Amino acid sequence: MNHKYFDYKEDIFSCPHCGWEGLGKDVEDGEMFAWEGFETICPQCRKKLPDTVTFPTAQDGHDSLIAQGLISPGTPPPADQWAQLFTTNFDEVLPPYEPGKTYSFAMKEVGLPFLAKFQVYLEGKFLFEEVAYFEYFDRYLEIGEVLFAKYGTGLKEFTYDCTTLFCGDFSSSDIERLDKFEKKIHDAFHGLPYSE
Ligand SMILES: [Zn+2]
Repeated sequence: MNHKYFDYKEDIFSCPHCGWEGLGKDVEDGEMFAWEGFETICPQCRKKLPDTVTFPTAQDGHDSLIAQGLISPGTPPPADQWAQLFTTNFDEVLPPYEPGKTYSFAMKEVGLPFLAKFQVYLEGKFLFEEVAYFEYFDRYLEIGEVLFAKYGTGLKEFTYDCTTLFCGDFSSSDIERLDKFEKKIHDAFHGLPYSE
């Protein structure tokens, strides 16, 4: 059976393997498929259940936020908001480089799963935000390279939260790319020779 993301925690699940029966909030997340949804695992015998959970569309998420009173019913539909967010030209909001100054950036994720944004801060001050999507660490690296090109040895750090959206299924080659970037800015900041 297929469950909706906003309802499944209160739905009844039963395991054909061991007979466990309980609420969706107690099942474990199984394999995840980018924008579609995820499989579920029995919390008792840890075998795959026949039930899957479908992620909400942006419109579902929007409707749910209105139903919960978290945003006003007049808020523009997600398609408009997202189109707006995607066009962020973030280089324009970056302050100019000043020699001798150090720059600590942080990326934070906010919002509901699959209706989330990531925000970039400089020394705790909000700079810009974009739509967060599955495995957006690629975008993080892209932004990171722009920051490195602009601030060079003054770039102290660019931290991130390893959320489900950010990291996704995280393969070892993905971790390697993030580690490599981290090492590059660390070495440059500390005056060590670094390699591309
Ligand atoms: Zn079971």
